[in-house]
Amino acid sequence: MVLHEIVANLHVHTPYSDGAWYHAQIAQAAAEAGIDLVVVTDHNVWVDQVEGYHENVLLLVGEEIHDVQRLPQCNHMLVYGAGQEMAPRAEDSQALINAVNEKGGLCFLAHPVERGSPLDGGLAAIPWIDWELQGYAGIELWNYMSEFKALTQTRWAALFYALYPQLGIKGPFHHTLRLWDRLLAEGRRVVAIGGSDAHGNGYSIGPLSRVVFPYRYLFGCVNTHILIPSTLRRDVDADKATIHEALRQGRCFVGYDALGSTRGFRFYARSGSDVAMMGDQLRRAGTLDFQIELPASAEIRLLCDGNVVGRGQGRRLNCTSVHAGTYRVEVYRRYRLRKRAWIFSNPIYVY
Ligand SMILES: [Zn+2]
Ligand SMILES: [Zn+2]
Repeated sequence: MVLHEIVANLHVHTPYSDGAWYHAQIAQAAAEAGIDLVVVTDHNVWVDQVEGYHENVLLLVGEEIHDVQRLPQCNHMLVYGAGQEMAPRAEDSQALINAVNEKGGLCFLAHPVERGSPLDGGLAAIPWIDWELQGYAGIELWNYMSEFKALTQTRWAALFYALYPQLGIKGPFHHTLRLWDRLLAEGRRVVAIGGSDAHGNGYSIGPLSRVVFPYRYLFGCVNTHILIPSTLRRDVDADKATIHEALRQGRCFVGYDALGSTRGFRFYARSGSDVAMMGDQLRRAGTLDFQIELPASAEIRLLCDGNVVGRGQGRRLNCTSVHAGTYRVEVYRRYRLRKRAWIFSNPIYVY
């Protein structure tokens, strides 16, 4: 199975909302970080006429939408591929999802679990609240800046982790992972993505006053790696359609590239003569064989319906099973004495 891997950052802000840099500079930062795709998602504004290739980086425009009238703030929704301004629909999240789907777009629930920070008068948590909604493509399993916010419970912690973020960043919130498994257990297909939520703004924390998390740095951290059947054609509309289709199918994984590039991770399941990859359904025909490949040695866990059913250390893991269920992979690496999340696959749905 030959697949091409696109490394993407799907959650980024510009001065059209509360970010620091415009699109061309952001594309430049993406090129310097070595990623292939960046999707700008400004708050409640869809910016037209800026999509395109900047050398080898494809820059697309989505939107992060919430109801500005609703307090406390909640329910940030990432919208991709709607091709028009959708913010006027913010008041009713279900109507927004339906309208985006009608336009051929995709909705992801941004930073669904958050922990606020008491600093600077309080950086409030902005979680997802309305869980009865239907029709969204997935959730943002891992949001880098959301995890950083949770680390800033004191001024000293904020200063320390701003200087040494890799010592603080450990992975998606446990609660978000459990929530994802619960949604999957309901029989839904829920695609996981990861993002930086890059703003590129300066912060003043005690004596430290600088851009704490420049775009370029964040584009080397939590990314979504998208697997597509053939290379991009450098035709913006065609490539956009290919990328959105892969995201819709769940042919992607979340990688924390700051611990070492996660390019090359693969997860397959076989049963009889059928082979499935992330996002696929697989019908059992006797034994199931799972194959997991990594670009570097790490601790690999295979989970079925949220429970670990296979485990190993190394660059590959082969496991067998006979049970139906939703299978996904988690990979961990040690960095400075602590175990850190490295890779989260999307599921293979076995029935
Ligand atoms: Zn947000
Ligand atoms: Zn955001």
